[in-house]
Amino acid sequence: MVLSAKLMPLLSLVIPIYNEEDCIPILWAELQKITANFSGYSIEYVFVDDGSLDQSFFLLEKISQQCAAVKVLRFSRNFGHQIAITAGLDYAAGDAVIVMDADLQDPPEVLTQMLAKYEDGYDVVYAVRQSRSGETLFKKITAKCFYRLLNAMSAIPIPLDTGDFRLVTRRVADALKTLGEQDRFVRGLVSWVGFKQTPIYFERHARLAGETKYPLKKMISFALNGILSFSTLPLKWASWLGFFFAFFSGLYILVVIALRLMGYTFPGYASLMVAMLLLGGIQLMTIGILGEYIGRLYMESKKRPLYIVQDAVNVAPRG
Ligand code: UDP
Ligand code: MG
Repeated sequence: MVLSAKLMPLLSLVIPIYNEEDCIPILWAELQKITANFSGYSIEYVFVDDGSLDQSFFLLEKISQQCAAVKVLRFSRNFGHQIAITAGLDYAAGDAVIVMDADLQDPPEVLTQMLAKYEDGYDVVYAVRQSRSGETLFKKITAKCFYRLLNAMSAIPIPLDTGDFRLVTRRVADALKTLGEQDRFVRGLVSWVGFKQTPIYFERHARLAGETKYPLKKMISFALNGILSFSTLPLKWASWLGFFFAFFSGLYILVVIALRLMGYTFPGYASLMVAMLLLGGIQLMTIGILGEYIGRLYMESKKRPLYIVQDAVNVAPRG
């Protein structure tokens, strides 16, 4: 019998790219430098161009012409960071797959530590941010609060201060592929699939070049997605709020009837307005919460593909 041709384990590096033309040349140089130390592994790079409007795809295509280990997927439009990671995980063939950002905020030196943990037998090695430089105080504080709130609300523990920078083994990547949900909060999904997980700690650098692709609006919708896909607590709060106010409204109705029967009459405009506005506000809020979940159900029910690949370079056709 011929020995398996694949003696060395394959390591895939998945990197989502959205308008990163300023980062790509330096990123590529850094990646080559660090992966040169990984003599025990064959390496493949899976760049996912998430509908960039700049020269990113052409830069990646050029790199892929020089190096056959570089796979490039180009989406037909911008589908979002989490979907880009999902596609990268779908197309990565590695025994171990590392997901990292293109802007070197996830320092390539950490890859060595991740591989050491992988060799120790862990299935997921997630990188916890001990510090974040080059980010606004606002982002730091809101991010800290978000991870704590998410963890408190989610039924499964999701590690604090942890982004998508992590290593997963083949069986975890395969398990992730079976999760078909549209609203993908990848870091939560990795916690959900389980297996043997371990943290490593790192200092998050400032962005290499360009600017964050997560403006406040995207950050809010990302945080909301995380919470709504991993918790139904808001629905419970909505019903508790309903019960609470229904109870006190019931008591108050009795008081109003009693006073009326005793012959008291009031001008009543102010109290009516207060009750109406308060209850109206709460009703709208709880309907809004319901709406968020129903909207997600609706999107899920369409069963659209998660992404459309426009071009695939160095990628064997899938069938
Ligand atoms: N990204 C992407 N699609 C998007 C937004 C971002 O593929 O719609 C990529 C981006 O190019 C980067 C990574 O996702 O490699 C993280 O984005 P960014 O660094 O802007 O986020 P931040 O680190 O500021 O949270
Ligand atoms: Mg970044």
